[in-house]
Amino acid sequence: MEKHDIAIVGAGPVGMTLALALKDSGLDVILLDARARGAARHDPRVLALSHGSRLTLERLGVWARLPATAIETIHISHQGGLGRSVLRASEYGQPALGYVVAAGDLAAALDDAIAAAGIPVRDHATVSGLAAGVDDVLISLADGTHLSARLAACAEGAIAGGDDTALVERDYGQCAVISVATPATPHGGRAWERFTPQGPLAVLPCRRDCAIVHTASPADAEALMTLDDEAYLARLQSHFGDRLRFAAVGPRACYPLKLRYRPNPVGQRTVWLGNAAQTLHPVAGQGYNLALRDVWACAQVLLKAGGDPGAADTLATYARERHLDRQGTIRVTDGLVRLFSNAVGPLLHARGAGLLALDLIPPARHFVAKRMMFGARAWP
Ligand SMILES: Cc1cc2nc3c(=O)[nH]c(=O)nc-3n(C[C@H](O)[C@H](O)[C@H](O)COP(=O)(O)OP(=O)(O)OC[C@H]3O[C@@H](n4cnc5c(N)ncnc54)[C@H](O)[C@@H]3O)c2cc1C
Repeated sequence: MEKHDIAIVGAGPVGMTLALALKDSGLDVILLDARARGAARHDPRVLALSHGSRLTLERLGVWARLPATAIETIHISHQGGLGRSVLRASEYGQPALGYVVAAGDLAAALDDAIAAAGIPVRDHATVSGLAAGVDDVLISLADGTHLSARLAACAEGAIAGGDDTALVERDYGQCAVISVATPATPHGGRAWERFTPQGPLAVLPCRRDCAIVHTASPADAEALMTLDDEAYLARLQSHFGDRLRFAAVGPRACYPLKLRYRPNPVGQRTVWLGNAAQTLHPVAGQGYNLALRDVWACAQVLLKAGGDPGAADTLATYARERHLDRQGTIRVTDGLVRLFSNAVGPLLHARGAGLLALDLIPPARHFVAKRMMFGARAWP
């Protein structure tokens, strides 16, 4: 039977990043994906990446190929109340608070780098089962064939049922309607995060356009999806307000939003990464940023340990190292959604006061800005 050191299940952005981070490790790595090669290049999502993510992608040699738009200012506000805060990159001596890239462009840059590094990818390979033993994991494919690996790195983009007894799940009752809108005037490198009782509305500078993440209840999202472009543009404009006028809007896609995560990202000869470890609400744009920190740490732990990549103590070291950042990012993201996505009177005032305080108290603002730029290396 075909044997490998590491089989990465899922050649999405997270699986491909792990494969690249291990390219000089001497380990025999294979990527398995259910879809056709290059399918991830058509991902319509747009991702806000932190400065820390940029540094990691530079180390992996993919940043230079990525068309990225710098976020110079972030304007945070909430509907129905006073209080707002503005974060500026110039306050931190940085060129940007973060960057916006199209998920499809990121996938293309990663896929090209995988091909250049000669890392094998098997497409149309749907993994239907994993059976971890003492020395290896038996990986079953839907076509009836099998292979084995000393470590299965699961990056299949979802948390399935099965063994997930310890799975934590919260349905936010929200969907994200995403699109790209053309602004009537230049966006000036500005991003807007507007909290509304229906959920957050994010407007991100993306090349000359603006990427929109418009959160709504599932019923409202369904209705938004059925509007023609002109009607949707009017709805978007009235929801966002007059801070920027939009001239046109492109096709929409809809994603249901849930928090799902595995408190323990490792099991016997198995590690879960990316959305397979935690699927977060996009409110703070943390999904791939957190995954990138996880992937980088995982690769470093495997390289340092040497020998058997699936050894229990190696995987335990990885889980221990990532505990604080994972839990911090999950809790802050979840807290933001729950605090800001309702219209309860006292909360409305508390939120306004919080945003005002963020604007008036520089240390509080710096705390938030630094975590946006670098991720939570250590949540307090
Ligand atoms: C609306 C929205 C906005 C977002 N904005 C941001 C943002 O601003 N910043 C940010 O950091 N993150 C953001 N995210 C999160 C980000 O998109 C995800 O964290 C990231 O795409 C996860 O990548 P992944 O590789 O884990 O999963 P995926 O992209 O889903 O890839 C999984 C891969 O696994 C393959 N696969 C699935 N099942 C199998 C199987 N059984 N066998 C073999 N292969 C399989 C699939 O074909 C796919 O190629 C956002 C998410 C949403 C929904």
